[in-house]
Formats: sequence, structure tokens, C-alpha cells
Amino acid sequence: MVQSAYIHIPFCKSKCGYCSFVSYTGSDSSLRKKYVEELILEIKAEYKSEDLKTLYFGGGTPSLTEPEGIKKIIQNISLQPDAEVTLEINPETVDKSRLTQYKKAGINRLSIGVQSFDDDILKAIGRIHTADKAIKTITDAKDAGFKNISLDFIYGLPSQSLQSFTNDLKTAVQLDIEHISLYGLKIEEGSKFFQNPPENIADDDLQADMYLAAIELLEQAGFKHYEISNFSKEGFESQHNLNYWNANEYYGFGAAAHGYTNNTRYSNYCDLKNYFEKSSKKQYLHSQTKQEKLEEAIFLGFRKAEGINTNELNRNFDIDFEKEYKSILEKFTKTKHLLKTPSGYCLSNEGFLISNIILSDFICC
Ligand code: SF4
Repeated sequence: MVQSAYIHIPFCKSKCGYCSFVSYTGSDSSLRKKYVEELILEIKAEYKSEDLKTLYFGGGTPSLTEPEGIKKIIQNISLQPDAEVTLEINPETVDKSRLTQYKKAGINRLSIGVQSFDDDILKAIGRIHTADKAIKTITDAKDAGFKNISLDFIYGLPSQSLQSFTNDLKTAVQLDIEHISLYGLKIEEGSKFFQNPPENIADDDLQADMYLAAIELLEQAGFKHYEISNFSKEGFESQHNLNYWNANEYYGFGAAAHGYTNNTRYSNYCDLKNYFEKSSKKQYLHSQTKQEKLEEAIFLGFRKAEGINTNELNRNFDIDFEKEYKSILEKFTKTKHLLKTPSGYCLSNEGFLISNIILSDFICC
């Protein structure tokens, strides 16, 4: 049964240099209101009224949507009493009063795009807020009553040193938040940086040093490294993302949203014209074969620090995992990139660093 929904809000004030997500600049409040109405129509058409465990507003910049709009959307969804309801926010788009209104609308978790606490770096990557504004947003969010706050950071940014990055994390720890997500800078096609690559970005070795230093620093500060890019205080793991990593089904609503229901992965129209005009918003649908589901279970399972459970895989896919993947398991346990756990296998920290190589072996074998 579906227990999660992702809602995509594809509007931003301006485009960050590294960003290749589907988001449109220059929207006005009437377009954003129209979008909320269309989202509600899509939800009414697709949603089977299951009681959801998680709801996630991602983007784009969901905090450009008025709290009233967020409230209307939430009112069309049935949530379990302890459901996790997350809103991604850009610090420049909120103040204490707006955060209080989001809380009243039903949001109980914030994911704040901080990226760095260095103003020169923020400027170089096209963020519209300063470090001070990000810090103010975090304290405002606490004052507004949020008790589950996640911060996003990027490492390997232009001119960013190992020390500057670890200083960012120390500041985050001092701010006493519950969750941190870390992403290594990747120059993706479709981003401004792809057209005009910035100078002084970290090479692979420096990115690796930053990643390993972050793990050490955050674990010492009491955070659990529970997924390749995610750290949380005990009990504050992102339930929404765990649903993805456990390969469970979820709705995706909104332009460019991806979903997985009835054994079928789908993605919605990205452009607003088609999203507004088409009666069904789904542009691509793909029914999962058993082999694809197995590969996803492996691929997503290894993202989690606990790794994969071999008994579960054997039961669900009628295989003998250790026999089927014997040579890969031997190769990477010998190099200590893979570790044996009581229930299966997981990646070591060094394994996380080359997870693409290891996982492509599992998928291509
Ligand atoms: S990184 Fe976030 S805020 Fe920046 S353009 Fe992309 S979606 Fe918008």
C-alpha cells in the first residue's frame, strides 16, 4: 500500500549555478496559485485516500508557495497521526511569521537549503541568501516551534577548502539541528556551471577528504550516518527518504514529479503548458520487471548504512544472493569496500566513496 507522497513545486526566484532540477524562474503569485489548483485536481484524480506516513514538498522552492496554498494541498491528503510532513525552504523566502503559518498549515519538518555558511561561496554558486540569513532562518524556525530541522550542504564548491567546509559543519552542529544532508558538487548537464564551469572546484581527492572528514566530525557530534549522504540524531532519520531507499511505492504529484505506484514507475510532464493542459499528468510510465525490482532493491539498499538484508532479498526474489553475486562480494569484501553484517552486507565509508563503481558491478553482472 502506498504510504508516501512527493509534491514538486517547480518555481525558484533565480537559478543556482549548479542546479539541474526542473524549476522555473519569474513566476508570479497568480501562476503559483493556479499551480496549486492544478495540483489539487491531480491529487483528487490519482490519490486513493490511503493514510500516508510521509508527505514531502520538494522543488524548486516550495517555500515560494503561500502557506494558504500548502494548507489547501495538505487538506486533500489523509495523514496518519504521526505523519512526517516536510517542506524544503530557501532561507531568503521566509521569515518567522511565514514559518509559523507553515507550521499551522501542517508542516512539521523543514529541510533548509543552506549549502554553505561562506558568503563568497554562496555568491559564487548563485544562492540568493547570505550565511546570516540562513542562521536567522534556523533560529526563526525553532522559535516557530519546529523540532525537526534538516540542513542541506554541498561540498567541493568553488574555492571551498577542507577547513571552510568542516567549519560549516561545526556551525551546523552548534545550531543544534536534527538532520544534515551532504552532497558532493557534480556539474550536471542543464546547469549554468555545465555551460561555464567555475574555477577552483575541488578535485575527486579533495571531495573524498571532505566526505570522510564530515563523517568523522558528525559522528563525533552524535549524528548517525544512516545513509550515504544523510546524518541524523537518533530518531530523526528522514522517513520519507527511507521509504525511497526501502524501494517502497509513493505518489509523485506536480510537474516533473516522479512516482511509483501499482508496480509502475512514472514521471509527470516537466513543462507547465503540458502539466496544465493534459488531463493525465503522467508522461512516461514503466512497469517494473522482477529483475529491475531486484536491481533497485540492491542499488537503493546499499545506500543505507545498514546495507542489504540477504534473507529478505532471497525471500522476495527467490534467489540465492550470495551464490548469484559471489565474485563481486568476494572482490569488494577483500578490498574492505564491502563489509559483512549480521543480516547481509553494507558498504564501508571507503565503499561509499566508490559506490557507483561497486553498484554498477551488481547491476551489470
Ligand atoms: S538549487 Fe534549489 S533554489 Fe537553487 S535553482 Fe535549484 S531548485 Fe532552485
